Amino acid sequence: VIEIRDLHKSYGDLEVLKGVSMTAPRGHVTSLIGSSGSGKSTLLRCANLLEDSQSGEILFEGEPIRWQGTGLHRRPADRRQVRRIRTNLSMVFQQFNLWAHLTVLENVMEAPVTVLGRPRAEVEARARHYLDKVGIGDKWDAYPAQMSGGQQQRAAIARALCMEPRALLFDEPTSALDPELEQEVIRVIRALAAEGRTMIIVTHDMRMAADISDHVLFLHQGLIEEEGPPSRLFGAPKSDRLKQFLSATV
Ligand code: ATP
Ligand code: MG
Repeated sequence: VIEIRDLHKSYGDLEVLKGVSMTAPRGHVTSLIGSSGSGKSTLLRCANLLEDSQSGEILFEGEPIRWQGTGLHRRPADRRQVRRIRTNLSMVFQQFNLWAHLTVLENVMEAPVTVLGRPRAEVEARARHYLDKVGIGDKWDAYPAQMSGGQQQRAAIARALCMEPRALLFDEPTSALDPELEQEVIRVIRALAAEGRTMIIVTHDMRMAADISDHVLFLHQGLIEEEGPPSRLFGAPKSDRLKQFLSATV
């Protein structure tokens, strides 16, 4: 479970998140939609503690992040808490952030070996399993530059899975995939939720959001403008901004 309460985040004078509250329950897929620049990626990075936020609370499995300082000086107070929570959270970035100098297999194995300190043989077996699962098992020895965008995206997903985290945050996980691969990734994400993991997905693809989600949040100008189950949100949107957004995207 990831809970966010009244989160505010600014970059300098630009207030990107203006009091966002959301709950992503364990075992559910929670999707974030909204126009470009509405703050979706920023919200994921704040939830993952990769970015500082100026006020508001973030709770992971009921445990609140402890802060020190206020406003622009606010930082997590306890490095050990942050490290513990981060190892239980994986993120797949909008840009895939693979290490260019490592092969796909080495990319996937990197964090479990160096961060979790797991034995290489065990991690390698798991890495190969997840590479197979996303359909690029035969590419294990390639470098990122030798792979297509969709293959890199799947490598990034395998890398996140290989940590076997309790929560996975995906930023546009299928943006570089063709429809068939997209279905495959949707299947993997649903299966991970069914295992009891907490899944948050940012997507521009409304069809995917409708297919994959238990709950959808519409972010508009730094606030959750409307939320609900996908059938209701897409079938009977209430807010004019959401109606406008949906009519522009489909
Ligand atoms: P997209 O759908 O295009 O990915 P988004 O909803 O993910 O958009 P964000 O990346 O969260 O949007 O950006 C929200 C706002 O914050 C934008 O106006 C962006 O210019 C600004 N922003 C994001 N990152 C930074 C940064 N590191 N420094 C300054 N401004 C930033
Ligand atoms: Mg983004």
